[in-house]
Amino acid sequence: MSEAEQKVALVTGASRGIGRAIALRLAKDGAKVVLVARNEEKLAAVAKEITDAGGSALVKPCDMSDAAAVKDLVKGTAKELGRLDVLVNNAGITRDNLVMRMKDQEWDDVLNVNLKAVFVACREATRPMLRARRGRIVNITSIVGLIGNAGQVNYASAKAAIVGLTKSLAKELGSRGVTVNAVAPGYIETDMTSELGEDIKKSLLDRVPLGCLGQSDDIAATVSFLASDEARYITGEVIRVDGGLAM
Ligand code: NDP
Repeated sequence: MSEAEQKVALVTGASRGIGRAIALRLAKDGAKVVLVARNEEKLAAVAKEITDAGGSALVKPCDMSDAAAVKDLVKGTAKELGRLDVLVNNAGITRDNLVMRMKDQEWDDVLNVNLKAVFVACREATRPMLRARRGRIVNITSIVGLIGNAGQVNYASAKAAIVGLTKSLAKELGSRGVTVNAVAPGYIETDMTSELGEDIKKSLLDRVPLGCLGQSDDIAATVSFLASDEARYITGEVIRVDGGLAM
């Protein structure tokens, strides 16, 4: 494939966990992957993994809680590389607390990274994608956004809003060849879930019909499909990858 034909995929939260797996997978699929997160060292390690395997990657550190930085990142990447084919909004955080104890800051932190950054990134990706009359946006939500979770009103609100954002954007951009979909992971083994207590982990597992935890690669495979040409007729969809947990 010539450099001019190579698709550009920007993945946020690519330094570890699900985002890292998505980045590795999209690189394997042939895309030039723009790796975004705060930790530059970890991003560089992911980039090395990709280039060592014969792929191509670019490191772009960015704090997604800074809306102006997110705007510059997406706009600047599309300008620098001359295209933006795939945007995966994966970066996310939790600041769990019962609602009575939840501080404004905990609400704002989660809403800024998990929702506002997604809106800004989508907005800035829209122009290059519309111009190209093609594009793929995949937003990582959560089953918590679909069914709720005690102690996570901030996180659940942001993730539920991503579903509305995804469907609205899918309607806005559909006629121009741009698809917008969401993936809702269940309980996936990453840093984010390693902090859960053993009793919570056990009760979650008891509710998973497939009887095991998900892996980052399970999410990466779904994103890879949604980002591919084969998924051309799917838009506004939310795909649960949760072992049946939220069924
Ligand atoms: P991790 O905590 O393992 O990784 C989070 C990623 O987001 C890291 O790469 C981190 O990089 C990045 N990130 C966090 N804050 C910022 C920020 N302010 N600016 C830029 N990057 C940031 O999470 P997971 O891999 O588990 O989760 C990935 C996505 O999947 C999230 O949106 C999460 O909500 C969702 N999800 C996860 C589930 C699970 O079970 N694990 C279940 C359902 C949804 P760095 O620290 O270097 O900035």
